[in-house]
Amino acid sequence: MANGDNVARTGAIEALLVEQRRFPPPPEFREQARVKDRTPWEEAERDFQAFWAKHAEAELHWFRKWDQVLEWNAPWAKWFIGGQLNVCYNCVDRHAQSWRRTKAAIVWEGEPGDSRVLTYQDLHREVQRFANVLKSLGVQRGDRVSIYMGMVPELPIAMLACARIGAPHSVVFGGFSSDALRDRIQDAGAKLLITQDGAWRRGSIVPLKQLADRALAECPTVEKVVVLRRIGATAGAQMVEGRDFWWDELMADAAPTCPAEALDSEHPLYILYTSGTTGKPKGILHTTGGYLLGVHLTSKWVFDLKDEDYYWCTADIGWVTGHSYIVYGPLSNGATSVMYEGAPDWPEKDRYWQIVEKYRINVLYTSPTFIRTAMKWGTEWPAKHDLSSLRLLGTVGEPINPEAWMWYHEHIGHGRCPIVDTWWQTETGMIMITPLPGVVTTKPGSATIPFPGVQAEVVDEEGNPCPPNAGGFLVLTRPWPAMLRTFWGDPDRYVQTYWSRFPGRYFTGDGARKDEDGYFWITGRVDDVVNVAGHRLSNIEIESTLVAHPAVAEAAVIGRSDPVKGQAISAFVVLKAGFRPSEQLRDELREWVADKISPIARPSDIFFTADLPKTRSAKIMRRLLRDIAEGRVLGDTTTLTDPAVLEEIKRQYEETE
Ligand code: ATP
Ligand code: MG
Repeated sequence: MANGDNVARTGAIEALLVEQRRFPPPPEFREQARVKDRTPWEEAERDFQAFWAKHAEAELHWFRKWDQVLEWNAPWAKWFIGGQLNVCYNCVDRHAQSWRRTKAAIVWEGEPGDSRVLTYQDLHREVQRFANVLKSLGVQRGDRVSIYMGMVPELPIAMLACARIGAPHSVVFGGFSSDALRDRIQDAGAKLLITQDGAWRRGSIVPLKQLADRALAECPTVEKVVVLRRIGATAGAQMVEGRDFWWDELMADAAPTCPAEALDSEHPLYILYTSGTTGKPKGILHTTGGYLLGVHLTSKWVFDLKDEDYYWCTADIGWVTGHSYIVYGPLSNGATSVMYEGAPDWPEKDRYWQIVEKYRINVLYTSPTFIRTAMKWGTEWPAKHDLSSLRLLGTVGEPINPEAWMWYHEHIGHGRCPIVDTWWQTETGMIMITPLPGVVTTKPGSATIPFPGVQAEVVDEEGNPCPPNAGGFLVLTRPWPAMLRTFWGDPDRYVQTYWSRFPGRYFTGDGARKDEDGYFWITGRVDDVVNVAGHRLSNIEIESTLVAHPAVAEAAVIGRSDPVKGQAISAFVVLKAGFRPSEQLRDELREWVADKISPIARPSDIFFTADLPKTRSAKIMRRLLRDIAEGRVLGDTTTLTDPAVLEEIKRQYEETE
């Protein structure tokens, strides 16, 4: 533990949890891996621009080569200046013109059990037609297109068609409310909206078109609306004459060929709003060349993608993981990307494992939240299925608790599959801190080391590097190709949010510590740090300790204001199936934390709950739990998965007060 004086001086976050387990890459894995040794890191450290340029040249198709690799006027970056390329061409045409023409590009599983396969040739045909549809509705290069759809193949088709003609898309998660959609359409100033009649979710219909209509009443910039039929008559979509058009009817009339436009490397590719875990979502702008290179190379190396793989990322395309690692990264590599429409517990709690078995998935990328939920449901669900096809597992979205990592390793990977814990953000566009699975020995709970070419550091309040194991602020100290370029329409906020805290360095908003091997341990968002009697503690470490108790599946820890200690620790705990809340268990858990990490981390109170409030992108929203614990009016809840969960916690919490 860092000593108290040191903490007081630097405001650092104390590191309490020590993890000793080590998992070197299995020899069979290493032998076949795309990256087998440290060469990429060595090359990148010799000259990081030359490193990125080498792969941009070898891996991507350019209509015109760049004149200059990077122009860096901090915090403004331009990559591959003068270069011209097209993201859709890279993701579709070049494969449709190769032997991959007949290979599955997208393998789709509908929630009701229907399925579709699109080869690269199919995708090429659909994307060209839809690009012509966009043009026929007046969409031109630079116009923004909002997309509000469920997880259907037409969603990536729409995105790729936008990229083909240089119209930046803004995908809004299909689970969002009309208000959330309205705010995002207005912010992006979209000219066109693409939606669908309805989407399947847990056996019922989300009436997307109706929700969209409500939003559109306040979105004067939107001139036309394209509506996909997914559900049919029951969704009750009302079409507005002259404004709304059915997808299938437009496609039937569309011309079959549409060339991919040669776009400037810095041409805007998309705007995507962050999850809103900490507050109002930010419209992140990603551009063409650097972004594509970043997601291409990370997909290839982190997921060790091979042509024969079935690769499945369970994220929703409505958030950045889906953009980068369902659509752009895998397709640029000519991979087979699996897409699932619905809920993980529909019709039963083994749906994911059933999909793994059905398609013989090789690489699975999911979230710690899902893993903890699966832990709560119990091992009998994965045990029913043949998971022997899996060779590599990944996680993203939150720090993974070491015990959740171990559960994933044992019950899903059967001890055989390396796990890549990937740290990154909407803003970074690409995976930034991660093991490469054939090279890096993993430690449960650590995202390990920066991807080749990426430079990260842990610094104290003054911006000085922290000594090993002292917690501080995670910053990125060098530009990277897939970095956000700005906030859409708000450059000042871009500078303010990321570049003013530590000038010249990108401030991530996350806390971390670096151990003696140079491994990064993300300690959570700096806003979530708990301050007890002068000790700054990582909520994640306390949560991980709770999750390590046999009765606990999930935990959220917050600091609630306390007249004596500054803050007191409140823990919200979800038990595994088969365990019941009791006074005895409450005391046991408090002692468990005191014992395993430190008496200063002992929760003042433990509150048992059936679920935790989560964002649509599977993150625990601790700020709302803080609002409840401190008796405040709830903050922005628009990005919650299920507001009812929060209401229930609030009701129970107030009852026990
Ligand atoms: P907002 O910025 O609007 O509050 P958000 O940060 O939740 O929303 P995202 O960009 O989707 O939006 O999430 C990025 C954040 O997720 C990271 O900053 C980090 O806190 C967390 N995260 C992602 N992957 C990991 C990981 N492997 N380990 C630890 N934390 C992670
Ligand atoms: Mg964020």
